[in-house]
Amino acid sequence: MKYLLLFLISFSAKAMQIDSDMKLIYQPEFSKNARELAHDTPTKYIDVVAEEVIFPRGSARDRMLNAIEMVSEIVNSETFKEMVIGYLNEYGQRSYTRNEGLSNEEVYLTLMEGREVLDQDTPGEMNLYIKRYRPWWPWSKVIGYTKIGKSKYMYVNWRKYKYFDSIAMASNIVHEWIHLMGFRHDSAKDHDSVPYAIGYITGRLAEQYLEDGYIR
Ligand SMILES: [Zn+2]
Repeated sequence: MKYLLLFLISFSAKAMQIDSDMKLIYQPEFSKNARELAHDTPTKYIDVVAEEVIFPRGSARDRMLNAIEMVSEIVNSETFKEMVIGYLNEYGQRSYTRNEGLSNEEVYLTLMEGREVLDQDTPGEMNLYIKRYRPWWPWSKVIGYTKIGKSKYMYVNWRKYKYFDSIAMASNIVHEWIHLMGFRHDSAKDHDSVPYAIGYITGRLAEQYLEDGYIR
């Protein structure tokens, strides 16, 4: 699945961020001096905690637990920091859309603080509450949704998730977690939004991690 990332369309609603999948070829671009730029920002560590994974025992649950371990390696790597800070939007500017007024450096630091909208008192932790659901409509394109400020859970469509590999899961749970951190996006074409862009970065680093066995 090189450069072919599974992704999401979203319908903006006030609290609810509903993401549907679509396949697309999307290659994020990064500033050439991302490494130097990132040098001025301290590298933070975040503890990735699988608080609840409400999945039945089986291979999909195992892939999810692998995905969570990969996320921990990814977000705590220097490469992740450099990509988040060096990310260039479609106009070649180092900026995200729907960034809550934050620079790329501040986005990195805010995420690594781990203060989810509903988990303000556990800084330094990425608290993951993942619950599967089965849509009544079997052909639903929705892969997951969150209710920002109303629920700690990310709800994932079991009909899709049971076939996802750990790369797709890692990328999607980071996207959904970023919603739970209070960041939003417009449509699924809002590639430069914090959830989408950093979801893509995660997917790309997950591929690299599986190929090389580590991330710098
Ligand atoms: Zn979304």
